[in-house]
Amino acid sequence: MTYRPMFPAVALAALIAACSQEADTAPAPAAPAVQTAATDNIHGFRIGEFQAWALRDGSLSFPNDNETVAIGESAEDTDAVLTAAGLPTDEVSLGLQPLLVRMGERTVLFDAGAAGQMGTQGLLPQSLTSAGVEPGQVTDILISHGHGDHVGGLVAGGALAFPNAVIRMSQEEWAALQADEAMAKLVSIITPRVETFVAGSEVIPSVISVDIDGHTPGHSGYEIASGEDRLLYIGDTAHHHVISVQRPDWTIAFDGNAPTAEASRRAILERAADENLRVYAVHFPFPGLGRVERGDDGFVWSPEG
Ligand SMILES: [Zn+2]
Repeated sequence: MTYRPMFPAVALAALIAACSQEADTAPAPAAPAVQTAATDNIHGFRIGEFQAWALRDGSLSFPNDNETVAIGESAEDTDAVLTAAGLPTDEVSLGLQPLLVRMGERTVLFDAGAAGQMGTQGLLPQSLTSAGVEPGQVTDILISHGHGDHVGGLVAGGALAFPNAVIRMSQEEWAALQADEAMAKLVSIITPRVETFVAGSEVIPSVISVDIDGHTPGHSGYEIASGEDRLLYIGDTAHHHVISVQRPDWTIAFDGNAPTAEASRRAILERAADENLRVYAVHFPFPGLGRVERGDDGFVWSPEG
């Protein structure tokens, strides 16, 4: 995976604003070519009888300056957590990989990536092709929340990127997205295809939404079940596989209501650890699949494979 160099301050400010609140639908500057084979951008696995793929869309990076991630913490403390995990301390990097699941008649996408905005690489369309799926075959898109790195990919060239898909999100999240003036163009394009659900309800057969408050007004995770197998898609409950898991109470700029988001993050981590739940984290290192274990000091992410 090729990470982009650290952003200039102006670009970073724009990125943070976009990721935390809103993103325009204007075309982004061309992203740099990513030197990975197409097959490196998908990861196939099963959830019971369902075939699933992690689909790489790209990555995001931020300076490790305690202004975006670990806000208010000391550089010393943040560096110690990163160093202990064998990670660099100059920047903090996140993955971005929507999830695709084929379940019976349905082909379901969980979040739609950033469409090359926010310095990301816009790989989702080619990753989808690598998985053998055409955009028109996607029947449902389940949105965790309305930030640009999750809904940006719903639109391509001013039109629906997945023309036959029903776009599903919680009632609260749709209301928030509609109220966001910066997203007006995207909202106008997707409105005919949007169907909302009540948080906590069954969204489609085999998928129950999980109300995870704090990141955005209607942020939802999704629990996918097939037979005895389950997978919990956590959306942006946790952004970084080390900092957000080992220090769930540390503040990240992207959480709209930080205290609530931090309480939700801890609750989901506790549940995942207690139930030995298989977890899919859209922003953890690709493919974002693993489990949460209790460590001596908080929690630890245990990637699968
Ligand atoms: Zn996100």
